[in-house]
Amino acid sequence: MNEPKEMAINMTKNGSQPVYKNFPMVPRVVFGKGSFDQLGELLLPKRKSTEAPVIFLIDDVFEKDALIARIPLLFNDKIVFISADEEPKTEQVDALVGMIKNEFQELPSGIVGIGGGTLLDLAKAVALMLTNNGSASNYQGWDLVSKPAIYHVGIPTISGTGAEVSRTTVLLGPHKKLGINSDYTIFDQVLLDPNLTIGVPKQQWFYTGMDCYIHCIESLNGTYLNAFSQSYGEKALDLCKEVFLGGLTPAESRDKLMMASWHGGMSIAYSQVGVAHAMSYGLSYVLGVKHGLGNCLVFQFLEDYYPEGVTLFYKMMEKQKIVLPKGLCQGLSEKDMDRMITVSLSMAPLWENALGKEWKTKITREKLREIYRKI
Ligand code: NAD
Ligand code: ZN
Repeated sequence: MNEPKEMAINMTKNGSQPVYKNFPMVPRVVFGKGSFDQLGELLLPKRKSTEAPVIFLIDDVFEKDALIARIPLLFNDKIVFISADEEPKTEQVDALVGMIKNEFQELPSGIVGIGGGTLLDLAKAVALMLTNNGSASNYQGWDLVSKPAIYHVGIPTISGTGAEVSRTTVLLGPHKKLGINSDYTIFDQVLLDPNLTIGVPKQQWFYTGMDCYIHCIESLNGTYLNAFSQSYGEKALDLCKEVFLGGLTPAESRDKLMMASWHGGMSIAYSQVGVAHAMSYGLSYVLGVKHGLGNCLVFQFLEDYYPEGVTLFYKMMEKQKIVLPKGLCQGLSEKDMDRMITVSLSMAPLWENALGKEWKTKITREKLREIYRKI
């Protein structure tokens, strides 16, 4: 094992000494069926005054759901319903922050995000941008945020992305799709109630669940791998196998996928994702394909890079009777194809994790074109 050198690769170096990243984790988490009803209790000590609301950003799929009656509204709290049809944008974050600042005299006591990766990322970004000046797009990158965020809570309603544990919020900005990566991005509180995932449509359940599976495969087969990432990645992978190939009851499956997502997210925290994410990023940027689906579309053709992972992926698709859409890239112009390849190849750390330091000699634009054309 050569972990000390590898672990330092994507981190700052101090002379010749590697400097290991001091990684923040979610400080508080509740797990359990029905735990959503404890939300009011969790928020109470965080309320700063009757004028400082808690803002609930909620996926609009719940707009007419019984869940809404269970939101612990007090004083001037506000619910904002948001569609997850499109991935979050910096201008959307700026607009939400503007609206909150306009409507309330005091800064909110807290921001609560309820939904999938889209809503969790929006909640993180809004909480950050309420205390940091300017547009969210100014903070896309690494460690550009200078002030702590407003207290923020993440409540996932679909499992797989690991956004509930990560120190990033992925946003589409005017110039790039890039996360706001900072220690302040991490949620102050996460509430994991597996019952909230009951209504997830099967196809979407698979796509978002496969995001977790692919995080494991890319982390466990990457050159950045170390014992920290491996310990979480192996656990998440075992849980994914149980969920997608085993004979669990629906309730067991919901519990286990929620924990798989958590561990998968922790695994990539101290390593990196790989080829599927790099290529899925290109699909998302040029065609607007969403993260989970994009990963699946690419991953099915990555047998040269992840042979065992891809074989197992086909078994999971078969067992779950999933059919992926076809022909997405077939009508693509050469110009768009080139753009897609360029965007994908710009994700240097992902390629380096997947193929090693000499990655540029191991991958060609032609190879990417060949894979994209199959999608
Ligand atoms: P999502 O939030 O985009 O939601 C997918 C679909 O599922 C939506 O239509 C949504 O309305 C629906 N849905 C969610 N919960 C539901 C429920 N309980 N019942 C019925 N429908 C429900 O999906 P996602 O895959 O969780 O998130 C993708 C996003 O996460 C992308 O924007 C991606 O960039 C981001 N992401 C972030 C990180 C991170 O670390 N911050 C990691 C991976 C992905
Ligand atoms: Zn992912």
